[in-house]
Amino acid sequence: MFSMFIVLFTLFVALFSAKQVATPKVQLCIVCGKPVKNGNCGPHCSKLAKMGLTKTILQAAKQAIMVTTQPVGFITVANLNLWLKNHKGNAPTISAMVKAFGGDNPYMLPTHPAFTPLYVNGNRWLPAVLGTLAGCKNMYNGAKVTIKPTAQQLAVYNKLAVILGGATVPVATPATPATPATPATP
Ligand SMILES: [Zn+2]
Repeated sequence: MFSMFIVLFTLFVALFSAKQVATPKVQLCIVCGKPVKNGNCGPHCSKLAKMGLTKTILQAAKQAIMVTTQPVGFITVANLNLWLKNHKGNAPTISAMVKAFGGDNPYMLPTHPAFTPLYVNGNRWLPAVLGTLAGCKNMYNGAKVTIKPTAQQLAVYNKLAVILGGATVPVATPATPATPATPATP
């Protein structure tokens, strides 16, 4: 009777541990960190994963667009979106524009340094000139972009280029006076 109890107990323990082993470990998406269903976290995360992006890289990119000083002559992306909606038919769609400035959480380099978003006071900001028909069409002209990035945008763009992989652009530095030659010591 006692040995039967032992057998049953052993069987129970074996079954229980087998069940524990069989339970799949929760897999987390390397891009957004949420639990992955059926080995896939949706088309957006799959796309970013294929680009070699991870949660750490995306967080660094988000951090890179954060600035401490409010950019002058800039409008919020929300306001730009409103403007685009009011000019539907003549203006590009907001999704095309989001792509031009590198995605909501920047995951790619903006198509031009002048489209680098700056994040401050809970908003992403872009040059106000983009809220004009001529300005927003700049986003589609590639090399023919006439808008100049601000120094703040250039600095952020270069940070993004390092994080996301891409060429940095030279930052013009004010000419420094030539240092006088050290007189030769006798
Ligand atoms: Zn995900």
